[in-house]
Amino acid sequence: MAAPASTTCAIAGCGPAGAILGFLLARAGIDVVVLEKHNDFLRDFRGDTIHPSTLELLDQLGLADEFLALPHSKVSAVRIETTGGEALRISLERVPSKFRFIAFMPQWDFLEFVTRKAGRFPSFTLLRNAEVIGLLETGGAVRGVRYRDAAGEHELPALLTVGADGRTAVTRDAARLPRVETSPPIDVFWFRLPRRADEVAAVFGRIGPGLLLVMLDRNDYWQVAFVFPKGKGDEIRARGLDAFRRDIVRVAPELADRVDSLHDWDDVKLLTVRVDRLTRWHTTGYLAIGDAAHAMSPVGGLGINVAIQDAVTAANVLWRPLSTGQVADEALARCSAAVNVRFVCFRRFKASCRLDFSSRR
Ligand SMILES: Cc1cc2nc3c(=O)[nH]c(=O)nc-3n(C[C@H](O)[C@H](O)[C@H](O)COP(=O)(O)OP(=O)(O)OC[C@H]3O[C@@H](n4cnc5c(N)ncnc54)[C@H](O)[C@@H]3O)c2cc1C
Repeated sequence: MAAPASTTCAIAGCGPAGAILGFLLARAGIDVVVLEKHNDFLRDFRGDTIHPSTLELLDQLGLADEFLALPHSKVSAVRIETTGGEALRISLERVPSKFRFIAFMPQWDFLEFVTRKAGRFPSFTLLRNAEVIGLLETGGAVRGVRYRDAAGEHELPALLTVGADGRTAVTRDAARLPRVETSPPIDVFWFRLPRRADEVAAVFGRIGPGLLLVMLDRNDYWQVAFVFPKGKGDEIRARGLDAFRRDIVRVAPELADRVDSLHDWDDVKLLTVRVDRLTRWHTTGYLAIGDAAHAMSPVGGLGINVAIQDAVTAANVLWRPLSTGQVADEALARCSAAVNVRFVCFRRFKASCRLDFSSRR
């Protein structure tokens, strides 16, 4: 697709945050260009938990039925079991929503769906293979992006630039926004194991001495997270794949008949868990959202949904200033209200989950 010479809003990155913001602004008639450094959305596992809050959004946009017609699995219960026989069940059955489940759908299908829908609006442009390499700045204000594609380097002037380029965002570094970093004391190995059709559709957490395993239902396979103390990945690998398989079976004995499908360590991907957040999300002409503003722990599968909430808040606050050609710092500052929205929604979600303790002993 031909790149426009300038735009009203340039968005760096087409993950959940950039795709939804691009959709919402284009729907409001704002010229928007989303720049994505990859040609497609196919990535390693990036999480695929579409929570009720996001399904509600799609419903408000009139897209929920079509979205839920795409292949996905529904989970309305999370079950946590210990090797000692304790069990905790978390149910979404009382979530105040018509969607009382989490829809598990590969992130690339979600992004293809949203960008296809956004493409119906003439003011939406998605530039693939376009890597943002810096910001255009004049008099201390951000005035667009510099990017690189197969034809070379280019400039795209914009009234507003949004950094939705994820946890290693180049735009927030270029905007020199202050960041605090914390590191939860865990890392995660991700891998797949076959799933039988007759197995219960749920999210399972398994806890044993020094071990935590989370199993996510992906129809024909389990996406498994093996959580371990930070920095111990090399030690676990050094003990060998057989010892690793035994650890898995120790907390999830029903997987004994399929752990052999892990052939070598290439089947096991390391996620170094990092949590950070900007203490200010904006500077004149620039706003960071999603993981670029706050990389989250994978616990709870919230990252995609919170990134989308940021995009919704930004669109609600900014579409009018963008349409008048004036985006004041004060409007950008109001977008940090996303933080409040997030915590209110999260509290509401937690309050409406029924905790059902039981013991098998
Ligand atoms: C292994 C793993 C498992 C996870 N599991 C879950 C889960 O189960 N549930 C959940 O909700 N969240 C999960 N997350 C977190 C979730 O993926 C993120 O919180 C979410 O994707 C953030 O969305 P985003 O749009 O802000 O950023 P991202 O999804 O990171 O998207 C950023 C986009 O910007 C592009 N980009 C980056 N740099 C540039 C550049 N310079 N120029 C142009 N484009 C660029 C990237 O290619 C990418 O497409 C997981 C994360 C990981 C790593």
